[in-house]
Amino acid sequence: MRKIEHIGIAVKDLGKAELVYQKLLGVTPYKREIVESEHVTTSFFRVGPNKIELLESFNEESALSKFIEKRGEGIHHIAFDVPDIQKEMDRLKKEGYQLIHDQPKPGADNKLICFVHPKSCNGVLIELCQEIKDD
Ligand code: ZN
Repeated sequence: MRKIEHIGIAVKDLGKAELVYQKLLGVTPYKREIVESEHVTTSFFRVGPNKIELLESFNEESALSKFIEKRGEGIHHIAFDVPDIQKEMDRLKKEGYQLIHDQPKPGADNKLICFVHPKSCNGVLIELCQEIKDD
């Protein structure tokens, strides 16, 4: 894995949270994006070389809604940038990590993603992401 790609924060009200983080970080979000497959709306901030992703659910049945119900708002996942997501998924599976998806899937911000179960990582949800090249 190359670096932390972003940190995901679960929020109840994206509009309010955007204002909080806008004031905190001194920048406006550069992107708002709906991820249909995860039933979430996301908002991204750039802070120097790092990124923060705010996530709000639009469906009470979503994994994110259940997360907030159980644990409240807060840090939801840490995402790592990987050059070849399929290779990394195969490697982790072989090492005994429990992956949430069998196949890489389209995520927010032009990425292929896969989640690693928090059970495998001391309670932390890990996201693998590979940049989708446009050319
Ligand atoms: Zn993420």
